[in-house]
Amino acid sequence: MARIIDGKKISLQIKDELKERVQALKEKGREVTLAVIQVGEDPASSVYVRNKKKGCEYIGIGSLSYELPEDIPMQELLALIGELNEREDVNGILVQLPLPSHMDEDAVIRAISPQKDVDGFHPQSVGALCIGQPGFVSCTPAGIIQLLKRSGIEIAGKECVVLGRSNIVGKPMGILLLRENGTVTIAHSKTENLKEVTSRADILIAAVGKPKMVTREYVKEGAVVIDVGINRDGDNKLCGDVDFEDVEPVCSAITPVPGGVGPMTIAMLLYNCVASAG
Ligand code: NDP
Repeated sequence: MARIIDGKKISLQIKDELKERVQALKEKGREVTLAVIQVGEDPASSVYVRNKKKGCEYIGIGSLSYELPEDIPMQELLALIGELNEREDVNGILVQLPLPSHMDEDAVIRAISPQKDVDGFHPQSVGALCIGQPGFVSCTPAGIIQLLKRSGIEIAGKECVVLGRSNIVGKPMGILLLRENGTVTIAHSKTENLKEVTSRADILIAAVGKPKMVTREYVKEGAVVIDVGINRDGDNKLCGDVDFEDVEPVCSAITPVPGGVGPMTIAMLLYNCVASAG
């Protein structure tokens, strides 16, 4: 039977460590504040935003909330970001994605000061990550590294296969695993012999956004399987990119959905906020 990697528990450990750091900062007279901007009322985004604010409360940092109408002109959003960039009492700025289709998401991301880019999506943050310089790291992949490390799973020298090459998960994941001295392959929709490629992995990270796509044919016996996916199955039940029931008996460790990678993403966002305050 595989070990279940408990993201809820590990994320709580991190949040409790952050709580102490926030307290220490407060004693030195330093407050930490995250500004969260949501455009429109997408229900999934509202849930994420609510959870982020709850996380801020838990570790004792402030959150400023901006709920903007769906049809707000892009210039107004950029002006708000400009203001928040200037404000000394705001440490981190988060714009909840996806944005409505009339907005240029890349331009919005570029408008956030790299010093306040707690999501780690700004090209400067991504560039710094690529060349091993300090900067904010995208929260989901950073959370996965923490999950692996805090579960005592060795990355150095291991075959790591990342399934998916998005800018927010797959690519930074590959770079972080490389930084930890893993031997990294990034697979995607054009990869030939996909099952053969993923079956080489000692550590397999699935970030495809396809419900239960990864079955045991994709997995080497004894591999560690990390499931990033957040999907709905045919019965509208939350599920990952991995077919948990099918894969769990053949792997050595696996993350569940929910309760695996998801809680780590928020913990690392909070980590970035605290780091931005020094
Ligand atoms: P994207 O849709 O941006 O990227 C999906 C990637 O998977 C692409 O690179 C695509 O390849 C690849 N892919 C799609 N279908 C196949 C296939 N059949 N075979 C091989 N590769 C395939 O998704 P994200 O990276 O944003 O998200 C992935 C999943 O993770 C989603 O379920 C999302 O909801 C979830 N997620 C979870 C988070 C969390 O906190 N737990 C945070 C962020 C995302 P190509 O590039 O060739 O098109």
